[in-house]
Amino acid sequence: MWKIRKPELTKALSDIDDFVKKGIVNDKEAKALECLTKQYDAQKGEVTKRQHNRIPSEAAERIHKHYSDTNIGNRLDYIRKELADGVTKCPYCAIGLPETLDHYMPKTIYKALALCRLNLVPMCWGCNHLKGHVHPYDEYIHPYYLPDLRGTVFLIAEIRLTGKILDVTFSFDAKALRNAGLYKQFVSHWKNMNLDNRLRKSVIDFLHSEVLTGAEETSALPVYLDMLLARLIRIYGLNDWRTAIVRALAEKLKSEEGEAVVAALAAMGRHSLDINL
Ligand SMILES: [Zn+2]
Repeated sequence: MWKIRKPELTKALSDIDDFVKKGIVNDKEAKALECLTKQYDAQKGEVTKRQHNRIPSEAAERIHKHYSDTNIGNRLDYIRKELADGVTKCPYCAIGLPETLDHYMPKTIYKALALCRLNLVPMCWGCNHLKGHVHPYDEYIHPYYLPDLRGTVFLIAEIRLTGKILDVTFSFDAKALRNAGLYKQFVSHWKNMNLDNRLRKSVIDFLHSEVLTGAEETSALPVYLDMLLARLIRIYGLNDWRTAIVRALAEKLKSEEGEAVVAALAAMGRHSLDINL
């Protein structure tokens, strides 16, 4: 979740050669577009308005108009296919399939970036709909340009027992992220993407399909959770919501509330909606 492999700058630049061959931009416009693409990459996923506006507006309009060429079956569909290759989950929510492409910097404003593969991120329909054009782009993380956070746990799930019901809440660890701007970006991303609500069903499904049915007996849960945690980290990384839940659950089982949590989980199998997020 969060970070996916960044497309190579050389690929983004060779796309521009192809735009020239296909008559989308002329040689002079291509030079300016190359410069903008290099700036986007060097500035880790953004350009200033001034840098963008060095592309003549007529050329920017033309590039924007040709975005439909990336639709499957059209002449630039290789860009869409190559970006989607190997991405199995939407990097913005880690719930849905990445069936659409999002312009990280919105194409309505940054028209010259409409075909730049560094600005195109695979995304699910739900996230694409929510991202829309309402929020500034920097309220979202950029899945290609996140700093290297390997080894850092920053998404925290908290599991609480309220009566016999399990409550799960998520938060970000500001200290672990060590960067106030990045922390703010994760928090606004989570809020704008409505992830607390959208994860509700997924969390229940996950607890049913992976946690409850995985361990044959509730007494085997602690050992099973450790195994599951290792597997989830391998597949989704340290900061996926699934990883966070299992990490929190494993910790909780070791606490004095452990037995009550196991009982609540077992009861969940019978009353599947007894969980609040
Ligand atoms: Zn999504």
